[in-house]
Amino acid sequence: MPVKPSLVGMTRQELRDSLAALDIPARELRMRVGQLWHWIYLRGARDFDVMTTIGKGLRARLAEAYTLARPEVITEQVSRDGTRKWLMRMPSTSPFDKGAEIECVYIPEVDRGTLCVSSQVGCTLNCSFCHTGTQKLVRNLTSAEIVAQVMVARDRLGDWPDENPPEGAFVPSDGGRFVTNIVLMGMGEPLYNFDHVKAAMDVVCDNEGLGIGRRRITLSTSGVVPMIARAGEEIGCMLAISLHAVRDDLRDVLVPLNKKYPIATLLEACRTYPGVSNAKRITFEYVMLKGVNDSEADARALVRLLKGIPAKINLIPFNPWPGSQYECSDWETIERFSQIVFDAGYASPVRTPRGRDILAACGQLKSETEKLRARARLMLESGIGAEGMFSAAE
Ligand code: SAH
Ligand code: SF4
Repeated sequence: MPVKPSLVGMTRQELRDSLAALDIPARELRMRVGQLWHWIYLRGARDFDVMTTIGKGLRARLAEAYTLARPEVITEQVSRDGTRKWLMRMPSTSPFDKGAEIECVYIPEVDRGTLCVSSQVGCTLNCSFCHTGTQKLVRNLTSAEIVAQVMVARDRLGDWPDENPPEGAFVPSDGGRFVTNIVLMGMGEPLYNFDHVKAAMDVVCDNEGLGIGRRRITLSTSGVVPMIARAGEEIGCMLAISLHAVRDDLRDVLVPLNKKYPIATLLEACRTYPGVSNAKRITFEYVMLKGVNDSEADARALVRLLKGIPAKINLIPFNPWPGSQYECSDWETIERFSQIVFDAGYASPVRTPRGRDILAACGQLKSETEKLRARARLMLESGIGAEGMFSAAE
């Protein structure tokens, strides 16, 4: 039996098409899309019955053809520091698809709540220090699947009108929404999935719905140079660049995409990023790897390299993962590095790792399926029958 599609995550055009498929008269479509939009994205409706502005008859027809289902939350982990990580399973797209698993992380602070969203399942880019890059299974997420991550976060945080956060949860206490910012820094390279990311951000930013401002969205890229200008023009988001090295020979190893788009071309794209200004700076991410890229000479070279670009620098302590070949720089080294950066006029450089205890920090994301598969492979290699493991994993 075909699975009923969910309307949750759909763009206005997709909602329109879904309504048209029910033979709703063309002259009503615009109004009906507006109604659904309001209930889904402003009110967080989980049942067609609450949509009181839509007549009972149409509600019943909608419920017959569609659902308001969200991706299934397989696990929710809460860190000691309040960070939450959800492992979600997307609905299956065909009889052969078991449903992609992705991770999504919520990082609460007193005056903001940042949701770290994934754009792909896995990543094709294989940066040598990143766990996600080791995942074999890769596919683009649809725009609906990207939006659905925000919906799940708001469900789980009780972040809808007339709902409350779970008992004891750490959420911003300034009276606003709990999800205020989005960073496209989860699994995947967002600029390799541009169209879906763009459509998803259009939904997320819409003022009649989720209403997150474009300047509260940061897209992080490992440096897909030809797509960078389009991110500024068409998404209008803030930009973060995973720089991590100041020399091409080292960046070629850490971020292999550098062989295609070396540092000079990457920085040129930053200089001309649409809208870049002192009020709208580009964030340069720099992961601190012991003995690899953390010398004082590196720090000085970094400052020289970024001269003339309105920039923020984010030093990220390396987050280890099982099997990783790097170590995090010592705290004294990080402090020395950050002092040089600070003296050059860049504020607040070190990003405190959040959610380390639940493997929710940068670059640690990797879905459970893949871990199980890896374990199954190991069992196979060591001669233990793995069929049971595979069926558990698939
Ligand atoms: N693919 C995009 C966005 C996702 S990665 C990109 O690379 O920019 C988000 C950030 O986490 C990037 O800056 C990435 O370089 C960094 N990162 C990856 N693995 C990490 C690790 N193990 N420790 C710390 N940061 C890591
Ligand atoms: Fe992909 Fe970003 Fe990880 Fe590199 S750092 S492998 S681009 S997710």
